[in-house]
Amino acid sequence: MAEILIQNADTVLTMDDARRVVHGADVLIRGGQIAAVGQGLETSGETVSGRGCVVTPGLVNTHHHLYQNLTRAVPGAQDALLFGWLQRLYPVWARFTPDEMFASAQLGLAELALSGCTLSSDHLYLYPNGSRLEDTIHAARDVGLRFHPTRGAMSIGESDGGLPPDSLVEDERAILDDMIRVVDAFHDPAEGSMCRVGLAPCSPFSVSRELMRDAALLARDKGVMLHTHLAENDEDIAYSQAQFGCRPGQYTEELGWTGDDVWHAHCVKLDVQEIDLFARTRTGVAHCPCSNCRLGSGIAPVRAMRDAGVPVGLGVDGSASNDMASLSAEARQAMLLQRVANGADAMSAYETLEIATRGGADVLGRPDCGRLEPGKRADIAIWDTTGIASSGSWDPAALLLAGPTQVKHLFVEGKQIIRGGELTTLDLPRLIERHGQLAQRLMQ
Ligand SMILES: [Zn+2]
Repeated sequence: MAEILIQNADTVLTMDDARRVVHGADVLIRGGQIAAVGQGLETSGETVSGRGCVVTPGLVNTHHHLYQNLTRAVPGAQDALLFGWLQRLYPVWARFTPDEMFASAQLGLAELALSGCTLSSDHLYLYPNGSRLEDTIHAARDVGLRFHPTRGAMSIGESDGGLPPDSLVEDERAILDDMIRVVDAFHDPAEGSMCRVGLAPCSPFSVSRELMRDAALLARDKGVMLHTHLAENDEDIAYSQAQFGCRPGQYTEELGWTGDDVWHAHCVKLDVQEIDLFARTRTGVAHCPCSNCRLGSGIAPVRAMRDAGVPVGLGVDGSASNDMASLSAEARQAMLLQRVANGADAMSAYETLEIATRGGADVLGRPDCGRLEPGKRADIAIWDTTGIASSGSWDPAALLLAGPTQVKHLFVEGKQIIRGGELTTLDLPRLIERHGQLAQRLMQ
């Protein structure tokens, strides 16, 4: 089996159970797995110098809408609140085709990879003009990232009192049928899997109570995970109380949307009882600090969630509400935001890196990822700390306190997909050109 040895790294942040930090260390990759972490390791295979670098597990992105990077900085949506923002963008998204889905997924996953991400989920909840979930799965295969696409859905259109235009919603029977189709076709439950499919009605305000319940039943039947948006802002809580007569936590509990096979995006407005519910049931949270800032939603109680034992990972969220999809930037923002809310000692750079790596892997049900130790998958980010961003740094905590924000090398399942800061799997300038042409077409 092919071996690659990362040699003489200045520091390796293992994120193993002991959270070992090893200096002057090597990481041996064999096939798709990590074979050893330590000093003085040898190989007859390829070597990659780690000198001047910090090595971490690849970062894990737990929430995204890849298609949205074709609608960055859209006038009219730049400064709107959540519901107004959606209403500005829905008519543009209704014009997407499989071409837009494919190109935006390629571009978004390439952008994530450059920022150190090796495993990303995606939440695709609209399927206009023949678009399908596999448009994004094929893109992920090309880029080389480990991918957890979710089959999202919206079923309550404007004529039924919902937010999206009727052209973007689907019949609930057809949604469930397509959920079954994509799980059967693309979900791989094996350890080391490169593609796991989840089920993800868009939010409690865009599908019926019945679809939420049926999706949960189907997910349990198929052994796949569940994902949605929850408790994002004050409007969201008010809607829940007006429509369902309860807070989001109770709604999720009644419909089977708690458990270690469920993760919810945002959760900015969870109260103490809901945090306790999520901790007891091991329900995960995708924390998206940049999006929460961008949309003015608030500061998620991540410190309280972590203290209670809620599994928390990071998400860049869609590029229409971030609009930057850099996971390393997201990690820095997560650290800063908890300090705004709770003081300078509320969230260290190391804890934030833990959330960004093994924390996210655990939220996505991937204990085989997110840590550098023998037997785990070889998903590895190598950060060059000899450049201007981290010059003068005394400690690897500089990764979030200073920089860099892009990786030098990146391995996914033992395959090098970034070498010397360049993507090895795709012609990036060509992809950007094609993506830009699609955005231009949407502006007309
Ligand atoms: Zn989202």
